[in-house]
Amino acid sequence: MSEKLKVLFLSAEAAPFVKVGGLGDVSGTLPAALQALPEAPEVRMVIPLHVAIDRSSFRLEKVVDLSIPHKDGPISAEVFSTVQDGVTVYLIGGAPFGTDVPVYSPDTLADGYKYSFFSLAALELAKALDWQPDILHAQDWHTAPAAHAMRTVYRDDPFFSRTGIMLTVHNLPYLGEKAGPALAAFGLPFAEKNSGLPKWALQMPLPLGLLAADKINTVSPGYAAEMLTKQHGSGLQGFLKTRERDLLGILNGLDLERWDPGVDGQLRFTFDRDSIEKRKKNKHELLKELGLDENPTEMPLIAYIGRMEGQKGVDVAIKGLHKIKNLPWTGVLLGTGVAKIEAQAVALATKLPGKLSTVIRYDDGLARRIYAGADMIMVPSRYEPCGLIQMIAMRYGCVPVATATGGLRDTIIDAAQPGGTGFLFNEARPRQMAAALKRALQTYQDPAAWLALQQNGMKQDFSWAKSAQKYYQVYKSILKGEN
Ligand code: ADP
Repeated sequence: MSEKLKVLFLSAEAAPFVKVGGLGDVSGTLPAALQALPEAPEVRMVIPLHVAIDRSSFRLEKVVDLSIPHKDGPISAEVFSTVQDGVTVYLIGGAPFGTDVPVYSPDTLADGYKYSFFSLAALELAKALDWQPDILHAQDWHTAPAAHAMRTVYRDDPFFSRTGIMLTVHNLPYLGEKAGPALAAFGLPFAEKNSGLPKWALQMPLPLGLLAADKINTVSPGYAAEMLTKQHGSGLQGFLKTRERDLLGILNGLDLERWDPGVDGQLRFTFDRDSIEKRKKNKHELLKELGLDENPTEMPLIAYIGRMEGQKGVDVAIKGLHKIKNLPWTGVLLGTGVAKIEAQAVALATKLPGKLSTVIRYDDGLARRIYAGADMIMVPSRYEPCGLIQMIAMRYGCVPVATATGGLRDTIIDAAQPGGTGFLFNEARPRQMAAALKRALQTYQDPAAWLALQQNGMKQDFSWAKSAQKYYQVYKSILKGEN
């Protein structure tokens, strides 16, 4: 190929513009990592201009106005652009992303409406710029309508005749269940009965995207295999089996610059592998900040960070902690999510004053201080496509105690193995969580063994370069029409 490969990369969120979870981390890093490869593809990213984006922090330049067809009359899209880490980023605004609209709403019909609009606007943008992508790379159900549109309403459009499609699944169970009417309102057809998809999935964005994609990947090899099972396949395992040759797992990397305990501005005491003892000072500061018992800094500090939702098993963490409440530890739970689970987390902290602190909010600074000061972090996910929390924690010398599932199993080496970096348990159940915590608490009593775990974790190579190279290979295989 004489010209650089061109990739149109679509995402609902991307750091540093807007981040709700791991997808924001990935989209905020992968495009630049791709461009940094020796082959240097050109990646242009498109994200919505969410209300949550602080426009004054970025130099946004107006690019173009677009008109997106809708059954009640066209809707205008306003496109801005900026450059972030050398990547051209387009931000699409318009009435569907107007005042008060959250990045994700619990109502998938409402989200279906705004993300169908966004997906179509992203394709129209490429046309308006006369920038013909070799690859459309969509993420999750939100931008899957772009993949579907390319194979349906744009099927005969010569502009996209050479464009291949890759769809990355960051979280399979989120299918965009109720979004069908929104697709229809934007003129997007449903799949045919004989398409190979199960009948219940014919109107859902993620399945439609899977159908359209030339290659499908998810964010760890472990989860790619699990997606083919009844337990983790969300009902699509049969369909995915028929696409097995086009399905692969590429482990997420981590932005090593954004997550670096050596320069993290949120830490009073920055540190690296050779000055790991400074973590103690961070821990002391953190205990003060959280109003936890300060004297026993020798007691391990156990943390949880993340969405408080069923997937993440924070209920399991809460019950597990309750089972070992009489052992010497202090704890902190940071997250937001389902009201009932948030209430359980608050209730346990109320029962254990001075021992456990629960913080219900999204707080990047506090999360960083926890990674840098806590001794261990619970990651009891029921399923985990990749998970970044355990990787960030290891990089900050905080030892993960996690379920052996999906990307967690792919990234954590159990303490019983040579080069161990954490503690794994089989299933997200309170008893197993408690047993793994006990194992960790016991190892903590042996400072040399604990230090080895921390150092092994800090030595892991979570850089994006290897994974970006794999993405590039997949792009190329799509263009060659390889299976
Ligand atoms: P998810 O399934 O939510 O994407 P990941 O483990 O892949 O889970 O990534 C979660 C990311 O969000 C991490 O960067 C983590 O630090 C961050 N995060 C989650 N909840 C919070 C919170 N309440 N405050 C600050 N950061 C959070």
